[in-house]
Order: sequence, then structure tokens, then C-alpha cells
Amino acid sequence: MDTKIIDGIAHSREVRAQWRERAQALTARGCRPGLAVVIVGDDPASETYVRNKIRACAELELLSEHIELPATTSESELLAQVRALNADPRIHGILVQLPLPKHISSARVVETIAPEKDVDGFHPMNVGLLAAGHPRFAPCTPSGVMMMLEREGIDPWAKHAVIVGASNIVGKPMALLLLAKGATVTLCNSKTRDLGAHTRSADIVVAAAGRPNLIGAGMVKPGSAVIDVGINRLASGKLAGDVDTAAMVGVASHVTPVPGGVGPMTVTMLLANTVLAAEMACARQGLAQRSTDMGSEA
Ligand code: NAP
Repeated sequence: MDTKIIDGIAHSREVRAQWRERAQALTARGCRPGLAVVIVGDDPASETYVRNKIRACAELELLSEHIELPATTSESELLAQVRALNADPRIHGILVQLPLPKHISSARVVETIAPEKDVDGFHPMNVGLLAAGHPRFAPCTPSGVMMMLEREGIDPWAKHAVIVGASNIVGKPMALLLLAKGATVTLCNSKTRDLGAHTRSADIVVAAAGRPNLIGAGMVKPGSAVIDVGINRLASGKLAGDVDTAAMVGVASHVTPVPGGVGPMTVTMLLANTVLAAEMACARQGLAQRSTDMGSEA
């Protein structure tokens, strides 16, 4: 079996080029897409993620605002910052980098972001829309995985997809997106008995547990597509996914590497959601302007 190592960087480059055109069209109409990224504290991993997001905004010529707050920021100060961004017409997408310091409720912060600016797709209203089958902003990592599958010609229709990891930000929305594309979905968690029995029956495996090498030799069916969402920092300092990529070669039809697989697609989908949010805001503004014009003509 030939195994294709999916190049997430190449996919990202091509998808970003498409979204750059849409962003430029908006900017030409006076509606430049804008993303605000808020970070609280100085967690090194979060700082790297935020830097990558800001750099990607520059690549697409989006407006980006990077707000760094000290770890001592109170919840009410952060909520006030979010409300100010909700009211800022230059900002179409708001992302508050998680995790937050322990004294701040992430749920309250996410619920305070205006749903139409929630480009991470974590607000309960956007979660509900996704569960109901008509998503507005799907969370970036699972929608990046869907985009990769589509671009690789892997159709989930009538396939068995097994997702390892059931978090709100990756596993659960991944299950909903695959289900919406006609897959039969199994969602595993740390309590799942005999994980291998599930993964070996899968046509598509999505590993998102945050456990290095959890999916190793003998864990997947020949010819399956294996998508590695995990990002784990090893004691050596190197990054590793949840999948033993070398063990997949010759067995899986496709596998994504870490780094260079799902990670770049996640950032790409954040940019896509920001441009979508700006398109919707711009359309609303146009409608409001038209009804004002009609009012003044009457
Ligand atoms: P999380 O909130 O810690 O959730 C992990 C999930 O995996 C939980 O549902 C947990 O089960 C399950 N799990 C843990 N050990 C397991 C095991 N041995 N067998 C089966 N399930 C197991 O993590 P997350 O935020 O979803 O992130 C998961 C991984 O993806 C992390 O490595 C993270 O760094 C990475 N990530 C990557 C990207 C990207 O852009 N590539 C984006 C986001 C996250 P329980 O529910 O039972 O606890």
C-alpha cells in the first residue's frame, strides 16, 4: 500500500490564496476584514499560537489587533475588553486565546463574545447551529480537517469515522461535521474500552487525544486515512502528534504529519472564518444603508 503523507502546508497555501482574493474584494468595498486576538498571561505555547495567527493575518492583508493582557487581569476587565471589541466596527472576528488563567471563567468569556464575531465557533449559539446541521462558524481545527479530506478526495459519505478524543473544541465538533457529510461516527474518550478495536474498524481515524504515539502499529485498518490532530511537546523538546506516523507508512492510504499537517489548516480556517464574518457584516451594513436610503426617499 502506498501511503500519502498529506502536506498541510501546501493545502494551506492554496486555500489561503482563495481567501486572500475574497478579503481583497471586501477591502476594495471599504470593509477590510479585521481580527482581534486577545491573550491573557504569558504561556509560551499560547504566545507561539498567537504569533502564528497574527502573521497569517498579515499574509492575507487582514487588519489584526493583538491585545496582550497581564495574567493578573480580572474577569470583569477581560469581559469589558471583549465588549469593547464587540462594539468596534473595524473588528469582525474576536479570538480569546485559551487556556485562560484559572481565576477567569472561559465559558463566561466565550459567551460574552458577540456570536457573529465568534470566529472560533465556541459560542453556545454557534455550537447549537453546528449541532442543528447549519453551521455559521465551525471550530477551526475540525473544519481544517474537513477541508483537507475534501481536497484529498476522501469522501466521508457512508464511511466509518472514528474520532479519538471528545473535547468541545476538537472531537465533538469533528463528529458533527463528519456526521453532516454522511459518515457513521464513533467518538472515543479516555474511558473507551479496547480503543484499537474501534480504530481498526475505521475508514477514517482522527486522533485528537493529546497522547503521543497513542495510535501505533496494528491500530489501524489497511487503506484507512489517518488524521493526526495531536500536538505534544516531548521531553526532547520535539513536537509529536498522537499517531506514530512511521508505523502508518505502508498501511494507511493517507496520514498527516506533525508538524506540517492539521496545524497550518487550523490557522487557515481562522482566517476563512474572519473573512466570512466580514462578508456577513458588510452585507448587513449594505442592507441597513439601503433601508435608510429607502426611508429617506419615502
Ligand atoms: P483535551 O481537551 O485535553 O481533550 C482530550 C480528549 O482526548 C478528551 O476527550 C479525553 O477523554 C480524550 N483522551 C485522552 N486520553 C485518551 C486515550 N488514551 N484514549 C482515548 N481518548 C483519550 O484536548 P484538545 O484540546 O481536544 O486537544 C487534543 C490534542 O489536539 C492536543 O494534543 C492539542 O494540543 C491538539 N490540538 C491541535 C490543534 C491543531 O491545530 N492541530 C488544535 C487544537 C488542539 P476524556 O473526555 O475522557 O477526558
